[in-house]
Amino acid sequence: MISYILVVAILILFFCVLYRLMSIGKKKKWNLPARALNEEERKILIDLVPFYKGLNNDEKKQFEFEIMEFLANCKITGVNTEIDATDKILIAASGIIPIFAFPEWKYYNLKEVLVYPKSFNRNFETSGKDRTILGMVGTGYMEGKMILSKNSLRHGFKNKTDKRNTAIHEFIHLIDKMDGEIDGVPNVLLENQYVLPWFDLIDKKIKEIASGKTNINPYAATSRVEFFSVLGEYFFEKPKFLKRKHPVLYDYLVEIFDQDMAERDLK
Ligand SMILES: [Zn+2]
Repeated sequence: MISYILVVAILILFFCVLYRLMSIGKKKKWNLPARALNEEERKILIDLVPFYKGLNNDEKKQFEFEIMEFLANCKITGVNTEIDATDKILIAASGIIPIFAFPEWKYYNLKEVLVYPKSFNRNFETSGKDRTILGMVGTGYMEGKMILSKNSLRHGFKNKTDKRNTAIHEFIHLIDKMDGEIDGVPNVLLENQYVLPWFDLIDKKIKEIASGKTNINPYAATSRVEFFSVLGEYFFEKPKFLKRKHPVLYDYLVEIFDQDMAERDLK
């Protein structure tokens, strides 16, 4: 009897391990896009995404491929709002811009982006009180999902110099989360010896923000996590200005994202 139970237990364990291995294998695979970007979609990039315009021809091809690959693997769903090609392209571009230097990068931790018409509250309501949230990376039962407000997605690309872009902000949280923890340091991108100096620099800058001496969005002073995402927005939207005002911070971001953004022509 005991040996029978033991055999059953071993079999269950074996199938559990097999299932786990198969699901890990599945997680590490993204489908290839079924088609290339069409002219309408390319025009959206040309009209609205300065980062794309600053790329050379080969880089543009790579960017377009990664956009379509992203869209082939992450579902984009409108909640009480219609989603069109512009929304899809802008969301995918926001994901690709920060990791463009890492062609092997895939957002395995993202399955779906939910688009709300406007800002929402902690209960995901778009009417009523405390509707201050513009975007969010899901945790718990919302794991694998990101929520964006359509208004701020569009606004992030309309105003190209306000140092703000909600969708890029949320994708940087996802990059931060890739090592398992959202803590303000993307361990997958930053070598270990730089982590402590990076935290020291963040803490110093947060104090400067608190004293009102900088031009950094005060929301960055909320935590190291928010600091990293807010500075990422600044870095990708107004890099030359960031380099001039905060050169050390700028150098760290070049190291992390492996892109010298100030060298790119973002006009
Ligand atoms: Zn945030």
